[in-house]
Amino acid sequence: MAAIDMKNIVKKYGDGFPAVNDVSIDVADGEFMILVGPSGCGKSTLLRMIVGLEDITEGEMVIGDKVVNDLAPRDRNLAMVFQNYALYPHLTVFENIAFPLRLAGVSDDEVDRLVREASKTLELDEHLDRKPGNLSGGQRQRVAMGRAIVRDADAFLFDEPLSNLDAKLRGQMRTEISRLQKRLGITTVYVTHDQTEAMTLGDRVAVLKRGVLQQLATPRELYVNP
Ligand code: ADP
Ligand code: ADP
Repeated sequence: MAAIDMKNIVKKYGDGFPAVNDVSIDVADGEFMILVGPSGCGKSTLLRMIVGLEDITEGEMVIGDKVVNDLAPRDRNLAMVFQNYALYPHLTVFENIAFPLRLAGVSDDEVDRLVREASKTLELDEHLDRKPGNLSGGQRQRVAMGRAIVRDADAFLFDEPLSNLDAKLRGQMRTEISRLQKRLGITTVYVTHDQTEAMTLGDRVAVLKRGVLQQLATPRELYVNP
């Protein structure tokens, strides 16, 4: 069973040309799926339909064994990691990671246990009292991922998380994301316009062009048959 199964997904904004046109992509459990293509090809729209931030015009979005077309984002148990990490600058690392648990009304003891466990996995346990402004880019990235794993999300969704970084940090973060994703074994959908990111991070790569799925293949297959 696919973890995320997009079936013939269509998105039209108004009466225009479809932003996403009959796209079907099955993301396996634990798989790292890349959505790649030039600006305007529909990759963010597709990601937002997975998360529930955008209505689906036609087709079925299946997560686990549920059709989620009509489910609100908070009922989908997915963790979105945004470009700017969306951390709260006035909260400590601990409270940033704890945030979704607080929202869900989890008890203080349980919050403490879960945050410490997640921060150990992410090697952030020595930074729990610091604020995001004093952290490196890599550490901030890990806090954002900590917020995702602390509540045991079914999948990570990344929207160009590295595009604001310089080339050196981008390379480091690429390695870090890949290492963490493999260790956590969590299903991941990752949007990028960067070919190198696509080819180095993905188990499979979905290539989009003007809303249409052009290719769905492993990086190796794409090298042989670009
Ligand atoms: P990408 O993420 O690949 O850059 P997008 O998904 O942002 O592409 O956009 C795909 C197409 O849909 C583009 O033509 C874009 O202008 C259009 N689009 C995106 N969001 C909206 C919106 N809220 N209203 C109207 N058109 C939109
Ligand atoms: P990205 O390519 O990263 O999605 P954009 O600059 O295309 O970034 O879009 C930023 C925001 O503007 C998105 O929320 C998108 O929905 C919206 N947007 C994009 N294109 C259009 C459009 N043609 N009309 C209205 N909103 C749009």
